[in-house]
Amino acid sequence: MHSLLVRKYNQPVPRYTSYPTVPFWKEEIDVEAWKTAFRNKFEEQNHTNGISLYLHLPFCESLCTYCGCNKKITTNHKVEEEYLLAIEKEWIIYRRLMKQTPVIRELHIGGGTPTFFSPKNLQRLLNFILKSSIIHPKHEFSIEGHPNNTTKEHLKMLYSLGFRRISYGVQDNDPEVQRIINRIQPFENVKRATEMAREIGFTSVNFDLIYGLPLQTLESIERTINQTIELKPDRIAFYSYAHVPWTSKAQRLFDESHLPSAEEKILLYLKGKELLTKNDYVDIGMDHFALPTDELYKAWKGGRLHRNFMGYTTTSTKFLLGLGVSSISDTGNAFAQNNKTLHDYYQLVSENKLPIKKGYFLSEEDEAFRQYILEIICKGEVSFAEKHLPVLEQYSFPLLEDMEKDGLIVWDKYGLTVTPQGHNFLRNICSAFDLYLRRSTKDGKNVFSKAI
Ligand code: SF4
Repeated sequence: MHSLLVRKYNQPVPRYTSYPTVPFWKEEIDVEAWKTAFRNKFEEQNHTNGISLYLHLPFCESLCTYCGCNKKITTNHKVEEEYLLAIEKEWIIYRRLMKQTPVIRELHIGGGTPTFFSPKNLQRLLNFILKSSIIHPKHEFSIEGHPNNTTKEHLKMLYSLGFRRISYGVQDNDPEVQRIINRIQPFENVKRATEMAREIGFTSVNFDLIYGLPLQTLESIERTINQTIELKPDRIAFYSYAHVPWTSKAQRLFDESHLPSAEEKILLYLKGKELLTKNDYVDIGMDHFALPTDELYKAWKGGRLHRNFMGYTTTSTKFLLGLGVSSISDTGNAFAQNNKTLHDYYQLVSENKLPIKKGYFLSEEDEAFRQYILEIICKGEVSFAEKHLPVLEQYSFPLLEDMEKDGLIVWDKYGLTVTPQGHNFLRNICSAFDLYLRRSTKDGKNVFSKAI
């Protein structure tokens, strides 16, 4: 990959797990309108594609200083009970809106640290939800595990309930980097957790790695990647660290002078990518790498990739219900996000109310441009509808001209195809179709300022 292009397109562009992106949503949502959108789309999707379910479990025992997630730090495991009661109640509230038994096609548990919860409590929650659902024959269940506290009991229980995918937060194996990010996690723990999952029968193990962390060097990232390659996870997400201390207070806990410069960060990425691709990993796009034996790779190759708040997925459900504090739901034509504080979340659920706070109802134009962005991210090509030409000519085409000169795409007024070179810049290409971003910039040029 040409490093000059990496520099040119190294801009804060959204990851497009939603469109419009969260910064453009309304701060208050019309709850009755959301219920209507939920009911209608659920009935349309449930028996055809099945639905996706996301459970957010927010607790962690210690604070990683790079963290930008919605989490609650505590070592008091008594919090598990109160949280379980609330999330079970939320499920009951949503179940009342469903006229059919839900068909669960995809289920993902994220956090926080889901493995903060005891195997017994996780099992209780899952049984509670699954006993009033139908499990789709081609279901895909996955969980985020912490290498330090994922036990054999967790994994056996999850496996028995149909989980076959686990994603471990590895981030970096270097002891000095781990010290400054306050995530002490010896490589032996990562190795043990990976081997345990495989022995029990998990067929896809993902590692999350981050580049751009404080104290990372080319040598340290090389060691981390090489150790990762030794364990051969089926998938790797190699994320860029986003330093936003004004919103993520934990990031104020280390000295910024330890962060790599923008230039060094690019070199860290290029080194990681080079090592991964030399060792059989294929760059699926948007920071994701997969072995050719993994379903993600096969779905990408077969044009069956999909993308939602959980990132890339291999199932094409168009309806996602998120339960738990701060979770996001997506009906395809509307988004809703739950309250971000435990206090408000508990309060609303205890009053038998949906704990939603902000959201967005998509217009016809939003749905069309969302689809354009999805097609680019998942398939690398898209056709334009004639009726959108005036808007495309005003906002998107001027940017495409520049991208074509850089060899990222070939395009005309009928559609666009991403080139192998452009595959490294999918986000930037998608951003040409982000009308909110385009309209929020003063002159409609390639300026990125708000959404991350
Ligand atoms: S990075 Fe993960 S484990 Fe660390 S504080 Fe954030 S949510 Fe918790």
